[in-house]
Amino acid sequence: MSGAARRRAYLQAMGIQAWRRRDGESPAADETARDAAPAAAGDPVAGEGGVADAGQVQIPAAPETGMPQTAAPEGRADARPTPVEPPAQPAHGGRPAAPAPAPSVPAAIDVGDLGWDALQAAVARCTACELHATRTQTVFGTGNRNADWMIVGEAPGADEDRLGEPFVGRAGQLLNNMLRAIGLQREQVYIANVVKCRPPNNRNPHVDEISRCLGYLQRQVELVRPRLILVVGRVAAHGLLKVDTPLGKLRGQVYRFCDIPVVVTYHPAYLLRTPRDKAKSWDDLRFARRVAEGREGGGGPA
Ligand code: SF4
Repeated sequence: MSGAARRRAYLQAMGIQAWRRRDGESPAADETARDAAPAAAGDPVAGEGGVADAGQVQIPAAPETGMPQTAAPEGRADARPTPVEPPAQPAHGGRPAAPAPAPSVPAAIDVGDLGWDALQAAVARCTACELHATRTQTVFGTGNRNADWMIVGEAPGADEDRLGEPFVGRAGQLLNNMLRAIGLQREQVYIANVVKCRPPNNRNPHVDEISRCLGYLQRQVELVRPRLILVVGRVAAHGLLKVDTPLGKLRGQVYRFCDIPVVVTYHPAYLLRTPRDKAKSWDDLRFARRVAEGREGGGGPA
């Protein structure tokens, strides 16, 4: 299948009907999406994995100019991460990241060398931040524990809190479609959030809550050791990478978390509300796939 055909298939899987001009020319990217109804107040997606913030993602005004150049591929390192990492820098030496947050941010929970069962049990009984008081249950993570791809969102929403699984509901279905478009089934990847308990009223998790909870995600990354971490959404990206750069400027770069390559894209819930950006997410996924395969940015087989 040609690249244009794959792009059309992706956009159709994302719910976008790409149109064709009668003279046979291909439509431009921004000429496709007009399918989704505007998000109404009380949008049912609003409880799904952080949509409360999704509309606040800042989109760069400048047109895209393609993905930036990245460093030569390299293997995964075995070194364990320190509990708190310095602010992320693009692995290929691109734009410098913003300064780290204030030093008053609490350190991540150190879960040592816990295995999967002990780690999940530790999360289930955790009371390290105020989110424990309002949760129905913790949402640990799900999927293939030997996955090549790890998907990281921000926090459980109402459905996730009820079901105990990340990325369910409409946003989860869209994530599944996005993954399928690049040849991955949901069961093949590992999916987790930067915080394991639902913030009340779907507010964004606070910086201190993310910082406390990040130790659990670090240990999950250590145990999975994926080839790539795909971070979806601004809040997750800022929490994981310790930057405050607008999401649009984080796209197309390779960062590192626990020495694993990280690529950033839009949250599916945001894409449900802003379908014009679905085409950009296709670019991000193709870029992520190249990184995971070791063709860009230092990802690839161990
Ligand atoms: S969000 Fe994380 S740190 Fe806070 S109580 Fe839940 S598991 Fe513990």
